[in-house]
Amino acid sequence: MKKIDEVCKILIDYKSFALFTHINADGDAIGSILGLGMSLEIAGKKVKYVVPEPVPVKFNFLKNFQLINKDAEKLSNIEVGILLDAADTNRIDELRSHLEGFGVTVNIDHHLTNGHFATVNFVDGNAPSTTAIVLEILEHAHLPINADISNALFAGLLTDTGSFHYPNANRDAFLYGAKLLDYGADPAFIANKIFEMDTMPHQKLLGLALLRMEVTDRIAYSYIMRKDIEEFNASDEDTEGIIDVMRKIRDAEYIVLFKETRKREVRVSLRGKNSADVRIIAEQFGGGGHRAAAGCTIGEQMQEAINEVLSLIKEIRKE
Ligand code: AMP
Ligand code: MN
Ligand code: MN
Repeated sequence: MKKIDEVCKILIDYKSFALFTHINADGDAIGSILGLGMSLEIAGKKVKYVVPEPVPVKFNFLKNFQLINKDAEKLSNIEVGILLDAADTNRIDELRSHLEGFGVTVNIDHHLTNGHFATVNFVDGNAPSTTAIVLEILEHAHLPINADISNALFAGLLTDTGSFHYPNANRDAFLYGAKLLDYGADPAFIANKIFEMDTMPHQKLLGLALLRMEVTDRIAYSYIMRKDIEEFNASDEDTEGIIDVMRKIRDAEYIVLFKETRKREVRVSLRGKNSADVRIIAEQFGGGGHRAAAGCTIGEQMQEAINEVLSLIKEIRKE
């Protein structure tokens, strides 16, 4: 049986599903669990949405967002666990044991590094977003797709392609987009809710990160300390998106933002342009991602983390 048929059979045969996605959930993570979940619910199935905290509130305009982590502890009578948009089960932290407790698990993802850890794995490294794969699955299984579902799926497509700017914005990405519009997605509404809702603390942190940005050897980097976040009364979510403004700098091919976490580790966001492959860098520090967007967390002081990442980039470039 083809993989897509195997996934569709599970969605049709079983009655209850727990949908998981990765930590620091992005638009594709939230969009794919909500899009799939709404459709399953309309089809009469029971659905739980399980996301590692903190859940990014900026996506609360999507229908069913408020159901995320509601009664999430009551998973014992659910039959199937599905992990979306995550290359391996480490990406859900301590929720991992919950997912692994299910008799049947499904893995739906578009990361090339995906570890194929589930009972059924549907992984398409060419898909521009996990929500694009969800759309294919819903159509193939003849499951419902309405405007709310297509908005959630479009949110993932829009964010993972960098508003159709990144190299993964291929012909398929536009075709998926067009299909979602046919199902009722409203791109202007979604873009407004995602890109024009910055908080004041976010904009202050953005200003600070840009002021501190250094560009040498086609590497642009900056950093944000815990005390900066506290000074502006910001939350961790307020640091999201700063890297995407940094990457607008001309001539830089590697763009890196270092953020001190609550645990005093350093979360590193990387973006690559042209031939730069940032996933290789992130993987060296136990992280991962895609060629053009990747990340990792380094358990060291800020200055050490900066030095190590920058030297590795310089080294890899020489090869
Ligand atoms: P971010 O810079 O946090 O937006 O992350 C960019 C992309 O890198 C994400 O969409 C993930 O695919 C990947 N990523 C980030 N952090 C990690 C990590 N610790 N492990 C694996 N992949 C990661
Ligand atoms: Mn993601
Ligand atoms: Mn994704």
